[in-house]
Amino acid sequence: MPEPAHIASSPLRVALQNVGCKLNAYEVEALTHGFDQRGFEIVPFEAQADVYVVNTCTVTGSGDADSRKAIRRARRANPSATVVATGCYAQRSPDDLTTAGADLVVGNGQKAHLLDRLEAHWSGENELSLAPETPPRTDTFLSIDGLVEQGRTRGMLQVQDGCDEHCTYCIIPSVRGQSVSRPAAQIVEQAQQMVAAGYRELALTGVHTGSYGYDLEDRDALVRLLEALESVDGLERIRLNSIEPAYISDALIAHAAQSDKFCRHFHVPLQSGSDAILKRMGRHYDAAYYGSRIREIAESLPQCAIGADVMVGFPGEEDVHFQQTYDLLADLPMTYLHVFPFSLREGTPAEKLAQPCDSATKKIRGQQLIELGKSKRLAFHQRSVGQVLAPLVEDRLDAATGLRVGLSDNYVRVLFSGEANAHQIVNVRIQQAREELVYGEVV
Ligand code: SF4
Repeated sequence: MPEPAHIASSPLRVALQNVGCKLNAYEVEALTHGFDQRGFEIVPFEAQADVYVVNTCTVTGSGDADSRKAIRRARRANPSATVVATGCYAQRSPDDLTTAGADLVVGNGQKAHLLDRLEAHWSGENELSLAPETPPRTDTFLSIDGLVEQGRTRGMLQVQDGCDEHCTYCIIPSVRGQSVSRPAAQIVEQAQQMVAAGYRELALTGVHTGSYGYDLEDRDALVRLLEALESVDGLERIRLNSIEPAYISDALIAHAAQSDKFCRHFHVPLQSGSDAILKRMGRHYDAAYYGSRIREIAESLPQCAIGADVMVGFPGEEDVHFQQTYDLLADLPMTYLHVFPFSLREGTPAEKLAQPCDSATKKIRGQQLIELGKSKRLAFHQRSVGQVLAPLVEDRLDAATGLRVGLSDNYVRVLFSGEANAHQIVNVRIQQAREELVYGEVV
């Protein structure tokens, strides 16, 4: 049984792996920081380690499969290591992960106490490892507090966990629990520490970021949080990772339009452009409402990046419904699309819905939307030719061209030549556009 890292003669090696979404990635970054602070040596997941931690995902069947694969890989890499599974799949099906090779399963609600759990496990308190609490509730948020990986300029900052929406296809509320907002003072303090460690841009992340403050019956909390973060010295950009359409308030759009730190970038899940399908999905808006919010954003924030998640092949989605989705998105000023085929999750209400869609149809519809998304993105990039964008310069050169690389506030990857220092925002005149990026020169 390993000794805790701070009393072992040589530091214990820990390897962490994320499977899944941006929130999971944030949590792995925060856990890495926690292990580092307790004296563990952080090694790559492929390396020999004494402890492996996998933050699992269960949003689709492939999230499950990738999570099991990571646990098996860790077990193979060092049969005597302690393998820890946490995250959404661990919360939903702990037995699957112990079968795959995990020694310890830590539920979502206890993730912030993972290191204590690990040490309790080593001290023989095995009962702590068996069943994640159900339903989970995040009482403590994982904190990054200034860990900065070499060369990082953009980071994620968790502001919220859980979701109260219960869309019929989604397993997340049952594995992440009710919506809980992180205290604003804690968020601002973490932002200050991350800025002190070198970050210039922070993306606010959560399961349902738009509902920030709703658990405290404070519906203006998100705008006030943005204002507080914008006054953090040295923090130059704040991005919202994703926001549900029903939570985009007029106040938020007005704030975004007048702020010089809020990134002109809204990612607004649509899922379907058919009112009938939205209703079956348990989504509480219709296509007309979605369209009006997107148009309002586009009118208020010129050259704003506007993306959507879209699902194809939900049970009952017929050609006419898909066509409504396609036409809505073709008509709206979207700049990119993330397209997903419906994947049935055991334990969701969608299990009881009739009229499943066959996989060939899902594939054809998905491809049509992917092509639409690509043409929208290319058109968006082409509109920037001749204009000046302001990328935040990364600490690396593009491997193929040797050019500098940066991401603009409106979510455009910019490759450029000219004088520029890493971690700074520079003005670049755009000369050429491709679907995936643009080229330009510092002005
Ligand atoms: S809003 Fe819907 S899709 Fe998003 S996490 Fe909540 S239940 Fe899932």
